[in-house]
Amino acid sequence: MFECDRCGCCCRSLNKNSLYAQLDRGDGVCIYLDGDQCSIYNDRPLICRIDECYDRFFSGIMSREDYYRVNYEACKRLKEMEE
Ligand code: SF4
Ligand code: SF4
Repeated sequence: MFECDRCGCCCRSLNKNSLYAQLDRGDGVCIYLDGDQCSIYNDRPLICRIDECYDRFFSGIMSREDYYRVNYEACKRLKEMEE
C-alpha cells in the first residue's frame, strides 16, 4: 500500500493539475481540506486514491514499484515547495 503521511501538500496544490479543478476552491486548496486533513477521507474521489488509481489506470503500463516511486517523488517535490 502507498504510504501517505497525510501531510496535505497535494491537497493544497490542486491548481497544478487540471484533473482536480472541480475540487479547487480557487486558490489550489481543496474544498474538503480541513487543516491538514481531508474531511471526506473515507469517501474521497478516485483521483485522490493512489492505490486504486494504480489498479484502475496504471497496472497495465507500469509496475507498482515504479508507480510508487513517481508518486513519492511528486510528494517530495510538493513538500519542498512548501518549505
Ligand atoms: S503529498 Fe503525498 S504524503 Fe502528502 S498527503 Fe499528498 S499523497 Fe500523502
Ligand atoms: S478530497 Fe481529500 S484527499 Fe482529495 S484533494 Fe481534497 S482534501 Fe485531498
